[in-house]
Amino acid sequence: MDKTNEVCSRIIGVLSSDRCPVCAMLYQDEFDSLCRWAGKSGEAYRDSEQRIHLVNSGGFCNYHFWQFQKISSHYGSANVCVDLLGKLLVMLNSGKYKRNLNILSAENTRKCPLCYELKQKEADYLKELVVVLEDDGVKTKYVSGCGVCMPHFIKLMDYSNDKSLLEFLFDTQITQIARIKSDAESFIRKMNPSSRWEQTKAEKKSWLLAIEKIVGRNGV
Ligand SMILES: [Zn+2]
Ligand SMILES: [Zn+2]
Repeated sequence: MDKTNEVCSRIIGVLSSDRCPVCAMLYQDEFDSLCRWAGKSGEAYRDSEQRIHLVNSGGFCNYHFWQFQKISSHYGSANVCVDLLGKLLVMLNSGKYKRNLNILSAENTRKCPLCYELKQKEADYLKELVVVLEDDGVKTKYVSGCGVCMPHFIKLMDYSNDKSLLEFLFDTQITQIARIKSDAESFIRKMNPSSRWEQTKAEKKSWLLAIEKIVGRNGV
């Protein structure tokens, strides 16, 4: 299976997950990638291409560094940090006693390799999503699911000039948001202990879907 077909079949498969399909795939990619970084955090990988890349990038961003430490061993974290601290010492020594330390600010020194990887993948997924949505069968599956979150909905607009597809995406987004809102309202109405047994599955998870629909997955 070539890369494009693989992405297409992943998108179609993830439509049943009841989450933003792009977020769901990136969530899995992020976890897989963090596991790979953690797996190569030992001393033995100090001269590996991956470690050199991480050190040259200045380490992960704040969010990914804390995610990384959750699955890395303490020794793995220490190993990676020793290299990064070494780099920081070289930079501090070269800028000693200077007042303007903008050159050391995170924006200038840190280009998180995991953020970069996920940005590339996100672009691939959005590009392929508009392709798979040309199929009427896929459209039906898409409508019955949660659809894309608002951040991905906005980005998706840059990936197609097909007027009928854009209309479909807009109409579907409105339908899905109205459905989640209605489920959340019913969920609240049935909050009394005596009514809670009447809450549907969709109502019970409406608060989670609502947050994801508004802002996308955690860390987007
Ligand atoms: Zn999303
Ligand atoms: Zn990052």
